[in-house]
Amino acid sequence: MAIEISEISYCGIPFEIKENSSSSTHYILIHGDEQTAKILINEHIKKNKGKAFIIKSKDREVTLGPTIVDPNRLFSNSGARKALKNFKADWVKSELDDLLTKLKISRNNFLDSIFPSEGGLLIALHNNFRGYNVNSELKKSQLFSIKKNENPRDFIICTSDIDYEKLKNGPYNIVLQNVMNKNNDGSLSWAAIQKRVRYINIETRLGWLSQQRKMLNFVEKELN
Ligand SMILES: [Zn+2]
Repeated sequence: MAIEISEISYCGIPFEIKENSSSSTHYILIHGDEQTAKILINEHIKKNKGKAFIIKSKDREVTLGPTIVDPNRLFSNSGARKALKNFKADWVKSELDDLLTKLKISRNNFLDSIFPSEGGLLIALHNNFRGYNVNSELKKSQLFSIKKNENPRDFIICTSDIDYEKLKNGPYNIVLQNVMNKNNDGSLSWAAIQKRVRYINIETRLGWLSQQRKMLNFVEKELN
């Protein structure tokens, strides 16, 4: 199968697009330092139909205007404002406001590209390095299913209750988040909830490629 390669930018943050035939399944890698997820997304798109969006960065933080920032905090105005202030304390107010306006304009175009057509699925792949685990997500979740024999750092977040029902009895930790949180932190999952896009985040420990591959295959098998 031939893969078509193109590029898209979110307010100057570049993403490579790899498209393997047309399909309503999209994939995204948003943190450039999550090498296991990066290997998996590149491997997966060669063998499966869909469109993969892969951030063109080796680092977690990317350059935006006069600062660096976590790209997964830029998907709402309030989240972006907070993140930009966290990464740079001494903003000139007009400069920050201008950047937020540019982000807002670019965000709509970018989300239109990465969100699949009606009913499609967006799968994000992430890796964690230290303490972050499924227990950190329980308070923000409507439903969850935690498995005794699974490492809490390997888990699935989904935003569709129908998908959750199909996945909850599998072997993996899973949470449902389908209600907008007041403390929207600007991560992609909240934008997906807001736009009612079926979104799945598959999160594993960095280096656990076979585990993440198994989880991705499980999700696709159950949801297709
Ligand atoms: Zn990540």
